[in-house]
Amino acid sequence: MLEAFEILEKSKKILFVTGAGISSASGIPTFRDTNGIWQKYNPLLWATKQGLYLNYIFNYKKFKQFLIDVLEPIAQATPNIGHVSIAKCNKEVCILTQNIDNLHQLAGSDNVLEIHGNIFEIHHGQKLKFKLTNKELISIIHNIKISKNKIAFKKAIQIILNFKKRIRPNVILFGEEINLHALNEANNFLNVCDCLIIVGTSLKVYPAANIISLANGKNIKIINIGFEKINKAINIRGTANDILSQLLK
Ligand code: NAD
Repeated sequence: MLEAFEILEKSKKILFVTGAGISSASGIPTFRDTNGIWQKYNPLLWATKQGLYLNYIFNYKKFKQFLIDVLEPIAQATPNIGHVSIAKCNKEVCILTQNIDNLHQLAGSDNVLEIHGNIFEIHHGQKLKFKLTNKELISIIHNIKISKNKIAFKKAIQIILNFKKRIRPNVILFGEEINLHALNEANNFLNVCDCLIIVGTSLKVYPAANIISLANGKNIKIINIGFEKINKAINIRGTANDILSQLLK
């Protein structure tokens, strides 16, 4: 931890790469942990466009429960001290997040690059149609919950999800292209920053793993916060909210 403090003191520009772990203290489950969403739902059937469509057609009751399980914790979440500590960091900061929960922005961060999209943004085709507030999403979830049959369920979700009209939340599913603009911006920032801080990601998912090798080639100091270890980095084991609030105070 002492080494990390020293690095931070000398750093002027910091790139944060955040994953589901940073939002865990806000009540949003990760995907792969023991209480993760993928323990209950097979990602091949629930994180692909085709899988979701088939479940919607043939398995609508489970589809309804899936939407509630995914949407409700995000709609109800507020930023935790980890998000807030990054937002208050008095260095030049860029955040590349894998999360879709909008919590960095709610905490007050503005330079946020979302490679997997943002669940509050409703797209029509490739275009942004409108942005939902947390309150609006909570109200939609309520309507989903009280819907008694498939027709009522379809009506409850149609504002955010309509397969035929190509309306859906801006979330990158398995097999879809990530936000390359966000990735390029992060790579540009990597060229000018002096420190990379990885927070709450299993590092199995592209591009987090790739960014580490890029940083290694540029002599950038790497700090990794969470429960996985990476080579050539200062690994700080612990919860993101705990460590970030100590490190960035
Ligand atoms: P991931 O690959 O980012 O893995 C989560 C990591 O966080 C694991 O290494 C876990 O050990 C760690 N972790 C759990 N609780 C933590 C805590 N309190 N502090 C620090 N680390 C903690 O994410 P995933 O769960 O494998 O999901 C895959 C993809 O889906 C990623 O892109 C992820 O960001 C996204 N996702 C987003 C959200 C969200 O928007 N909040 C939630 C779930 C998944």
